[in-house]
Amino acid sequence: MALESWLALPAGTPFGVANLPYGVFSPPAGQPRAGVRVGDQVLDLAAALDDPVFARPSLNEFLATGRQRWASTRARLTELLTDERHRAVVEPALHPLAGVTLHLPFEVADYVDFYASEQHATNVGRIFRPDSEPLTPNWKHLPIGYHGRSGTVVVSGTPVTRPRGQRKPPDEAAPVFGPSRRLDIEAEVGFVVGAGSAPGRPVEVKDFAEHVFGVCLVNDWSSRDLQAWEYVPLGPFLGKSFATSVSPWLVPLDALEHARVAPPPRDPEPLPYLADAGDWALDLALEIRLNGEVVSRPPFSSMYWTPAQMLAHLTVNGASTRTGDLYASGTVSGPGPDQYGSLLELSWGGRQPLTLADGSTRGFLEDGDEVTITATAPGRGGERIGFGEVTGRILPAP
Ligand code: CA
Repeated sequence: MALESWLALPAGTPFGVANLPYGVFSPPAGQPRAGVRVGDQVLDLAAALDDPVFARPSLNEFLATGRQRWASTRARLTELLTDERHRAVVEPALHPLAGVTLHLPFEVADYVDFYASEQHATNVGRIFRPDSEPLTPNWKHLPIGYHGRSGTVVVSGTPVTRPRGQRKPPDEAAPVFGPSRRLDIEAEVGFVVGAGSAPGRPVEVKDFAEHVFGVCLVNDWSSRDLQAWEYVPLGPFLGKSFATSVSPWLVPLDALEHARVAPPPRDPEPLPYLADAGDWALDLALEIRLNGEVVSRPPFSSMYWTPAQMLAHLTVNGASTRTGDLYASGTVSGPGPDQYGSLLELSWGGRQPLTLADGSTRGFLEDGDEVTITATAPGRGGERIGFGEVTGRILPAP
């Protein structure tokens, strides 16, 4: 049975009381503060719960309080929204979504990006290294990742300026400098650490939900020509660091109980610290739109490594984590050619450009292009859990 709210919510909304994602918003002429989305409205948490932890321009202080407090807050919000006796408390704290400004919901501490889709890693291997095995020998033994740039994580809607840098055309002897000609997207899912972990104390796979608060959508903008020239031997650098966009809502893990599925079979068996006792493979259905047109539908359930394994690997060497750490899954690509999570794969390295409805073609992004990634997951009783969207438009290089 779906939980019913006394609020008049739009029929079939993916933002019902089973979801309650957290964000930071400014009402008209007001300061930024925390809220949860309910239907097409935002509930001001500091007002509704009379709790100053929410009267802040970031969720970090609340995220740091830990799982028990996350659960009790969710229980209290559910009570307020399902028992009409609380109408007098709730109604004055509601703001129409259309009238508020949404902000980056948390202060990003460290940012790590993984590479956990077997299909994506295989496709990239085939495109970038056609003469060798597509998967590197370590790929099925550990979730590969790199440390990204947290200071350039931006909220959905922030324009993205085309990066400039070095690229080396294959038929020239030396690199040239200028605007990237192969600007791309990567549709990913992000995980936000609420309760950090101490140095020297790895987080076990089974303790994932004690540390990770929630999930957002990520677009890891990528310059393929800068990347191809710079990435050997130390990995991605300026081809990735210019911007990473995130959706404005953090969907709590507690809203995703019905989205949990079994992970795909692993062969070979990973080392014991990566064994999957508690599965956190998630059945998120992503959709990528380019200038409004759907170009791909990547399934997150196809990922080889789960976010619980990623966190276990990220900390197994004794590295600590802290509130606001963001780690992303890597590009989500399913097995079908209409399920790839980047233009690199959808246009197969630019060799098979996409034809859009207006007749134009795209190998990579052009100035003025707008990319939007959305996702939903199964909720209780056939409901859908919405993640909102992460969107961005490309501005010309300066
Ligand atoms: Ca990535």
